[in-house]
Amino acid sequence: MSKTAKTAVPTITRDLTPERTDCPHCGRPARADYANRRTVHTLAGVTRLNLTVRRCHAAACPAYKRPYRPEAEGAVALPRHEFGLDVVALVGRLRYAEHRSVPEVHAHLTGRGVTVSERAVTNLLDRYDELLAVALADDRRLGAALARHGRVVLAIDGLQPDVGHEVLWVLRDCLSGEILLAKSLLSARQQDLAGLLGAVKASCPVPIAGVVSDGQHSIRKAVAAVFPGVPYQLCQFHYLREAARPIYEADRHAKKELKKKVRVVRGVERSAEGRGGPEAEAIRGYCSAVRSALTDDGRPPLEASGLRLHGRLSAVSASLGRAGEKGGSRANS
Ligand SMILES: [Zn+2]
Repeated sequence: MSKTAKTAVPTITRDLTPERTDCPHCGRPARADYANRRTVHTLAGVTRLNLTVRRCHAAACPAYKRPYRPEAEGAVALPRHEFGLDVVALVGRLRYAEHRSVPEVHAHLTGRGVTVSERAVTNLLDRYDELLAVALADDRRLGAALARHGRVVLAIDGLQPDVGHEVLWVLRDCLSGEILLAKSLLSARQQDLAGLLGAVKASCPVPIAGVVSDGQHSIRKAVAAVFPGVPYQLCQFHYLREAARPIYEADRHAKKELKKKVRVVRGVERSAEGRGGPEAEAIRGYCSAVRSALTDDGRPPLEASGLRLHGRLSAVSASLGRAGEKGGSRANS
């Protein structure tokens, strides 16, 4: 494990759960037994992963109490690595496609908010080289690792740190955590992906018990062509993230604008400071409702925090309206 990432406080939290709820070996239900935590430096920020781990409890099963981790974990980072796979993909692209020097790559990463030393950049480059050098057909260590599990649950992920650039395709096994094939491609055509899947299928020493991917059309068609009849699972995490991205962006923007509008709350609070009586009390109550709405952050993609803020502020405003009406009618009577 590289020890060169500086310790940092996570700004993003992701809860990942295995998509499969059954044991990949015997098909019986596998229990969500315990949770693991990991911190990973990704391009999006320092990310805390909360991972639910399942285990089969059938005493006769060869995978009895063997941990099964969330399939999406390997798309975020390699096992035991501190940096995200997206950072590794970016480092490789900057070095090989754009011919940047290590100090330049280092400066680029720092500019994007990834806290990393120059030494760590060299390590990341080594990881990238290792990744692309994986050759399932003649790697004895890898073959033995797969054999220990007796089968493979194959995941395919396309990592594209920046839109418009090449995609690093990574095919990995969710049971052993091993990378089976990695290749950088400029396109994501169905034929290209089918080529990668076919290469793994041809050299895999054990049966492929399932395939996991996101919902991208070309991947789905490639998987259907290469693995007919193999159980295929769309990874909800990827699927949702992709589907929700435009909504998330719009929501974030709306939230920012809403926050600007209620900035006056500070002044209102000050005006009620030190005052007694029901009116000042009511003002303080409303201000604290607005404040708590502002700090109520949802977790994308399942919760739109801007929409939620709008909902809470609308409730405050409606209540204020009702209070105003009451006050008004009392004054008139
Ligand atoms: Zn089992």
